[in-house]
Amino acid sequence: MPRTKFIAGNWKMFTTAQTGRELAAAVVNGCAGSAGVRVAVCPPFPYLNVVHEVVRGTPIALGAQNLYPADEGAFTGEVSPVMLKDVGCRYVIVGHSERRHVLGETDPLISNKVQVALAGGLDVILCVGETLFQRKSEQTVQVLDAQLTGGLRGVHADQAERLTIAYEPVWAIGTGVNATPDQAQEAHVFIRRRCADLLGPEIAANLTIQYGGSVKPDNAAAIMAQPDVDGALVGGASLKADSFLAIVRAALA
Ligand code: PEP
Repeated sequence: MPRTKFIAGNWKMFTTAQTGRELAAAVVNGCAGSAGVRVAVCPPFPYLNVVHEVVRGTPIALGAQNLYPADEGAFTGEVSPVMLKDVGCRYVIVGHSERRHVLGETDPLISNKVQVALAGGLDVILCVGETLFQRKSEQTVQVLDAQLTGGLRGVHADQAERLTIAYEPVWAIGTGVNATPDQAQEAHVFIRRRCADLLGPEIAANLTIQYGGSVKPDNAAAIMAQPDVDGALVGGASLKADSFLAIVRAALA
């Protein structure tokens, strides 16, 4: 069975309660009739509740951008998987490059987050991707290998259907320079092969692998036409309903 395309909008540290509500409403309205694609929006923590009020009972799922790997405790400023479930999240993004490179998250922490999120009933979008320096010095495969091996440690085969991998080359995120369709396909094939080793061939064959990095309405269709690209994790272009909805439509093409 072909894999259903999955488009998720990572709103990062943007929107207000008001603009988040309006954006979510526009996504809900614009996605009516887009039954062949899975869609999620991932607002900042303070607006999860607000956006949940808008998407509740619609096909649009709610996701968070991060979590702390414990159900509760004295972790000032952190947010637990139990809380994310409580406010209506289905998904959580883990290991985004901004968290790896700006906030210093390591593979052991990311692995812990993946395990605790899955155990807590959240579906995980695990981000992996190389920097420009790593690509130029031909380390892409080793970097992806290390991030997958580290990030998926302890994930059980029976949890893997709640896992999505997002291939997000760091040099393409927020830069306007997207990976070419061939570069994306090449990385996705490697990721799927590595996941076959780590989780089993059947799980890997069914695994959703999104591409992320400057996905826009004008490049989305070509990238998602690649056989191993199963959708997109969209940052900047998810902040405007028109561009996000155009990417959703490209996934249906
Ligand atoms: C992202 O934040 O995951 C992302 C891919 O950002 P952008 O689409 O803006 O490159």
